[in-house]
Amino acid sequence: MIDVVIAGGGPAGSSAAIALAGAGLQALIIDKSPFPRNKACGEYLSAGAVAQLRELGVDRTLAPLAAPLDGIRLSGNGARVELRFSQAGWSLPRLRLDDELLRAALDRGAAFLQARIEDVREEESGSLLTVREPSGETRDLPARFVIGADGAQSIVARKCGLSAAPHGEQRFALGGHYAGLRDLDRFVEMFVEGSSYFAVNPFDAAHANIMVIVREKDLSARKNDVDRFIRERARALSGDSARFAEARLEGKRVAVGPLAHSTRAVTAGNVLLAGDAAGFIDPFTGQGVYLALRAGIAAGRAIVEAVASPSSARRAIEHYGADLSGEMRRRAKLSWIVRSFVGYAALSKRAARNVERDPERAQVLIDAIAGCGPVEPALRLGTLLRLVA
Ligand SMILES: Cc1cc2nc3c(=O)[nH]c(=O)nc-3n(C[C@H](O)[C@H](O)[C@H](O)COP(=O)(O)OP(=O)(O)OC[C@H]3O[C@@H](n4cnc5c(N)ncnc54)[C@H](O)[C@@H]3O)c2cc1C
Repeated sequence: MIDVVIAGGGPAGSSAAIALAGAGLQALIIDKSPFPRNKACGEYLSAGAVAQLRELGVDRTLAPLAAPLDGIRLSGNGARVELRFSQAGWSLPRLRLDDELLRAALDRGAAFLQARIEDVREEESGSLLTVREPSGETRDLPARFVIGADGAQSIVARKCGLSAAPHGEQRFALGGHYAGLRDLDRFVEMFVEGSSYFAVNPFDAAHANIMVIVREKDLSARKNDVDRFIRERARALSGDSARFAEARLEGKRVAVGPLAHSTRAVTAGNVLLAGDAAGFIDPFTGQGVYLALRAGIAAGRAIVEAVASPSSARRAIEHYGADLSGEMRRRAKLSWIVRSFVGYAALSKRAARNVERDPERAQVLIDAIAGCGPVEPALRLGTLLRLVA
């Protein structure tokens, strides 16, 4: 029986494996994709995510591959606001991030199996996973603990009865790496229109990751001409026709959706969910990788504690579940607050004016979202009223 099977080798899975392997536990990562593999993502890493990478001991390997980011510019509803990070974020392709994280986990002693997990059943002494290998063969693997880090379509969450019906508008993301852009600097740029938006995350002055988020009903109209859509919306929303006029896709286009996944709990017996598998937050605020790394490390540590002291194993897992659920609730609220500010013209114009005069008014909120400041003060009514007073 394997100590811990980790479903998924993304940031949540690899960070859990690093935490487990560091404590001498046997961890097997199972992923359906061969690595390096790509992942639809804006590829912005908040300062909080960078701090987690430092904690995992991989920041020095990754820093030379990343472009530093000083802040974010939001445009939409006739308002434009520039917000500075108090600590730099990174722009870093997921192909590189996820591969280096997995490599670090394997270097520390974790093992990797390329296979699709098809079933997870609870057994008396742990769980039994059915996996299908690329050859088509299936086999059963018993595990004492399972970490479901298998993303927003998590089979572990579904098979363990942890999924809940997703709520809210169904939206999809389209995008990829673009060249031929002009005058990009060290700011992420977000262009918002209702519940649709697109994000430009620069790698250098001419290259960026561009992600367009659209409602389901707009998807088919956009799908065949994403490049033109991006150029048109960029021009309309930024009022600048030149910067995006020659944007052209480099490499493969990514498409993903619907962007929704909810859970009713994040643990069941000896199964712990982490990352997107535990619940999905609107990518608008770029908190996903931070949350995935944080949850992965915490899941690994909870299992280390449970193995070291079997009499308090249940408590360690329950504590993990309560802490992660609380953190996700608070971060979903932050995301909702920002979307509300940006979504209502009157609020966004007022907030933009206030922040221009006194950038400090927004700093508590920016730092909380970036994972480098406390969340509670950012959720206080007084903090939010100061933005629109
Ligand atoms: C459009 C978009 C833009 C985003 N932009 C940002 C951003 O700029 N910054 C940010 O911080 N976050 C962003 N996010 C969120 C971020 O991408 C996720 O939060 C993050 O990838 C979660 O990591 P994870 O390890 O939980 O899951 P993933 O990275 O999704 O990894 C899950 C892994 O599980 C594997 N898997 C799935 N099912 C199975 C199975 N049955 N068997 C075996 N393996 C399986 C997959 O192959 C995959 O490798 C964005 C998300 C979207 C959709």
